[in-house]
Amino acid sequence: MSQKVRGIVARAKGQPVSLETIVIPDPGPGEAVVRIQACGVCHTDLHYREGGINDDFPFLLGHEAAGIVESIGEGVREVEVGDFVVLNWRAVCGTCRSCRKGKPQICFSTFNATQKMTLEDGTVLSPALGIGAFADKTLVAAGQCTKVNPAAKPEAAGLLGCGVMAGWGAAVLTGGVSRGDTVAVFGCGGVGNAAIAGAKMAGARTIIAVDLDDRKLAWATDFGATHTVNGSREDAVEAVRRHTDGFGADVCIEAVGNPKVLEQCFFARDLAGTVVQVGVPNPQMVMPEIPMIEFFGRGGALKPSWYGDCLPSRDFPMLVEQYLQGRFDLERFVSETIPLDGVEEAFRKMERGEVLRSVVVI
Ligand SMILES: [Zn+2]
Ligand SMILES: [Zn+2]
Repeated sequence: MSQKVRGIVARAKGQPVSLETIVIPDPGPGEAVVRIQACGVCHTDLHYREGGINDDFPFLLGHEAAGIVESIGEGVREVEVGDFVVLNWRAVCGTCRSCRKGKPQICFSTFNATQKMTLEDGTVLSPALGIGAFADKTLVAAGQCTKVNPAAKPEAAGLLGCGVMAGWGAAVLTGGVSRGDTVAVFGCGGVGNAAIAGAKMAGARTIIAVDLDDRKLAWATDFGATHTVNGSREDAVEAVRRHTDGFGADVCIEAVGNPKVLEQCFFARDLAGTVVQVGVPNPQMVMPEIPMIEFFGRGGALKPSWYGDCLPSRDFPMLVEQYLQGRFDLERFVSETIPLDGVEEAFRKMERGEVLRSVVVI
């Protein structure tokens, strides 16, 4: 039997989101219904509302969530009823050409629930990133549920489901930051600060935070930045070089999604250094024009990072343990907790740069 719960829906492009009654089917084969405890407000939710992802309105927003498995469908072996889980948008298939090469973290055939959640009148909802967790409950593929230690606070653990994992992974997994490296992170919102925290955990020697907002640079210092650069007051590339003995950083992380910033990362890098691009560009943006001889002559690597190249089943439980042992301050990302109907206001705070993460707690 289906059930009716509350959810936050974006009905039309650019319109404020609204609290609606949504219909959740019972889980079918391979599916699970999860009772949501907490869900972070991510820029991607706003991109959906703005029509920047696709036009499949109405969207059921929310995708950075933790909760309890309420029911499971036939054949589900990944989780059991009552498990505390973080939801992921990389449920790997195990059989595509990448999975078979032993690289499930870049699975080309990830999946979501087969059945649809709907509005009361039967209109099919498009869940954000196949999750849709600004809701009392949501229906997902069981593979989207990653069991973690239930001692973690849901509002902190849920953030691993998207932004924090993307940033941490951009530094540690995609960028391969290790002991003694110099790192520069451009853009110090949730993703950028997670990259800074990751670089610190990995043993980076110098971590330079670059942003246009002093408030965000103060957060970056709290997460482990050793130097800060306000790009509105000084040349960011020059400043990164100055803080790295004139050479540039071993790893530069672009956490904004802007061609100009990507270009700065390219030139703020030491010879043979790595640029990681984790900020999400909009579809109109084009790559910066860089002389090919510079690309060739400097060596190194330019690497896009999707979801921080994470493998949820490996990385979520590990990072939750690091958090519980006091080695990774996941709670610091939570600027405020808000009720389910506070999402629209949280979008405005996010646009004004006032919060790292607003987190819906149910
Ligand atoms: Zn696969
Ligand atoms: Zn997200």
